[in-house]
Amino acid sequence: MCPSCSIEIESFLCIVTCTNPTVERFRKEQQEVLWRAMKDIQTPPLVFLQLQNGIRSGTQPLEQDSGLISTKASISQESTHDYASIAHAAYLQQTFELGWDQVLRGRISTLWGEAAYMEGLSLQQHADQKSWGASLIRALLCYSQSL
Ligand SMILES: [Zn+2]
Repeated sequence: MCPSCSIEIESFLCIVTCTNPTVERFRKEQQEVLWRAMKDIQTPPLVFLQLQNGIRSGTQPLEQDSGLISTKASISQESTHDYASIAHAAYLQQTFELGWDQVLRGRISTLWGEAAYMEGLSLQQHADQKSWGASLIRALLCYSQSL
């Protein structure tokens, strides 16, 4: 039993959200490895930041803020090609439809690949969208297996 979160030490939840200093330190070290891997595969900055935020907040759902939900509705209507909007839509889909815990199992919103591709284009990076997505999933699985 973990003294901080009072769930089993080896359970997924304790490892991902626990505030026990030892568990937290270990998680941070492993996250540094993940951030490096995400840089190595040329994850563009905005997509990187959004993924980092979601992964850091772990399985805790974002506040069910009505502003976010109405933004979600407007995004699906507009079908914009602006990478920031696509990245935002990816974040919302990951948060409300898939869940951030699923990220650690390699289940990511397909919008991440689209956002990364569009942002990469704007930065004149010519990374292949498909291989980026596959590499990201590999990095995420590697991270969750290290926990
Ligand atoms: Zn714990």
